[in-house]
Amino acid sequence: MADAIVAEGLIKTYGDVKALDGIDLQVPEGTVTALLGPNGAGKTTMVRVLTTLIVPDAGSARVAGFDVVNDARALRSHIGASGQYAAVDEYLTGFENLEMVGRLYHLGVKHSRDRARELLAQFDLEEAGDRPVKGYSGGMRRRLDLAGALVAEPPVLFLDEPTTGLDPRARLGLWEVIDTLVARGTTLLLTTQYMDEAERLADDIAVIDRGKVIARGNADELKSLVGGERIEIGVPDSRDQQVACRELASVASGEIQLDSGTGKLTVPLSGAGGGAGAEALVAALGKLAVAGVRVTDVALRKPTLDDVFLTLTGHEAEKTEEAAQ
Ligand code: ATP
Repeated sequence: MADAIVAEGLIKTYGDVKALDGIDLQVPEGTVTALLGPNGAGKTTMVRVLTTLIVPDAGSARVAGFDVVNDARALRSHIGASGQYAAVDEYLTGFENLEMVGRLYHLGVKHSRDRARELLAQFDLEEAGDRPVKGYSGGMRRRLDLAGALVAEPPVLFLDEPTTGLDPRARLGLWEVIDTLVARGTTLLLTTQYMDEAERLADDIAVIDRGKVIARGNADELKSLVGGERIEIGVPDSRDQQVACRELASVASGEIQLDSGTGKLTVPLSGAGGGAGAEALVAALGKLAVAGVRVTDVALRKPTLDDVFLTLTGHEAEKTEEAAQ
């Protein structure tokens, strides 16, 4: 499979800040890659270079076979991009916004109108399509912005934090729309701060910190770096704690940790995912109930972006933002 996006040694510096510090990236055609990282990691800068909005200081990149610097003009008609802040005209209707994009791409009047109607239907904006965008919700704006990126049916699509700031329902809706696009063979590079979003949408995840790719792999591979899911159980009585450690040894994938101050037991599980953690939790509680252990608190913790960061870099994601600033 050919690569739709290839970047080699990209560097972009702003004053003292290395927004990109020698990034390599390959995205095979028809696949989805997520750039996962906290605020200030360099995700937006990467997307801006790949979509020809800024020129890198060093390194090179090709998208859909075009060099992002030397073939920038030709490349633009082969890509679509949708940003963190929906780039739509407030005073035009949804339909007019999409029609305008079609005209900018020289699709012609009729084709632009047909395409606008088609996309409004696809993005569940048919009814809202004839109203001015200023009355739209955040989710509707994002959908319209994404629809705008698809007017010219680009084979390669860039989505910069597509769901940041959306409520959970709008987020799910957008994920479904993205699924449909990917099923049609679009190559997608998206950026996100959320591990669950990267896991849900991407075949491959590149974790970015301070302008560098610090880890790559699918969600399970990244989580296994952190050690997978874990069960946390509050057991106040010290004798019960000893019993619980013995009883749960068969459920744990490694050593059970006991915080004697808080009475919290942390039971590591292997990084299988797919409901295995919930099953292990039920089994663990069953064993404790039979053994008569009193439990005051229980949780199944999945690895978060913070856990991945802490493991890979020794610092938390939030600290990175401060450091970058
Ligand atoms: P966010 O989620 O906040 O957009 P990000 O991972 O996309 O974060 P970038 O926007 O790429 O991060 O920024 C990377 C670093 O480069 C940050 O430290 C940022 O302050 C800096 N930076 C980005 N653009 C500029 C600019 N035009 N001028 C100066 N500094 C910039």
